[in-house]
Amino acid sequence: MTREPDRVVVLSGGVGGARFAAGMAMVVPPRALTVIVNVGDDFEPFGLRVCPDLDTVCYTLAGLENPETGWGRRDETWHALETIETLGGPTWFRLGDRDLGLHLERTRRLREGQSLSRVTLDLCRALGVDVHVLPATDDPVRTWVHTDQGWLPFQEYFVRHRWQPRVLGLTYRGAAEARPAAGVLEALREADLVFLAPSNPWLSLDPILAIPGVRDALRPQRAVAVSPFIGGQAVKGPAAKIAHELGLLASPLGLARYYQDILRGLVIDQVDAALAPRITHETGVRVYITDTWMRGPEGRARVAQSAWMFARALARA
Ligand code: GDP
Ligand code: CA
Repeated sequence: MTREPDRVVVLSGGVGGARFAAGMAMVVPPRALTVIVNVGDDFEPFGLRVCPDLDTVCYTLAGLENPETGWGRRDETWHALETIETLGGPTWFRLGDRDLGLHLERTRRLREGQSLSRVTLDLCRALGVDVHVLPATDDPVRTWVHTDQGWLPFQEYFVRHRWQPRVLGLTYRGAAEARPAAGVLEALREADLVFLAPSNPWLSLDPILAIPGVRDALRPQRAVAVSPFIGGQAVKGPAAKIAHELGLLASPLGLARYYQDILRGLVIDQVDAALAPRITHETGVRVYITDTWMRGPEGRARVAQSAWMFARALARA
């Protein structure tokens, strides 16, 4: 008798989430995998709807991502941006020509009244992606960052100010009124295994978890996170800096404390192995130690495979 494959859900931001999701798509059949993606970074430059995390996930799953930048597409050209510059327009947010084509088409469909989740599934399918990629919500949720320079919308903080202002707090505008996109709660409820990708907790995971219903649909006994912190640092981006600024620990212990009520297990890097006993003793979260650097496709598959085996063992225990 053949068993149905485990249904797997990954909660994801951009680059860390996309790499992990791409690894998971090599471990489980792509159709058994749903990736629920942060939309708190979305914004509207030039009136176009840009969804950086959704696009990073779709491009990565399609094998079209830019390995150098971690955002945008490979083999990109910049003629449109050069024209904008010549004309004196704003160019601090980099939009490549190939990438722009996707934003144009998405914006056209949204203006016709289609939902973001419908449009995302169609665009991903057209790029050859069989994984279910869902925005956390079709409603507007926007991350705003309270900094020592005042309140900044996410892209101003992240791109324009290169995440240098000190973070005093965060808010996810619209989250309290947002409804999860069609399929999000069902996927979480029906999932055999749920993973919190090694994404930024405050900029990527919390804006998903802040949408009413999401936390409750996530069954902690099936949930495993992968730490984005390795040896007190983030592999990329401001996660460790923000942790310090918020008075939290930039380590798997800090992460386990922060998410202990929604997690059964945590995958941590071998360099943090010494923290394992304390994590489990303090928070009850079980720990799996491995090399969590996702270098290249093999690294992604290896980390996803470890997390998957660990989560299965926990769910069956
Ligand atoms: P963003 O939306 O593009 O900022 O991406 P995410 O929030 O999904 O991911 C950012 C996080 O990914 C950072 O905190 C990194 O530490 C983490 N990350 C990136 N690459 C790796 C990796 O190879 N291993 C681990 N463990 N974390 C990673
Ligand atoms: Ca992001």
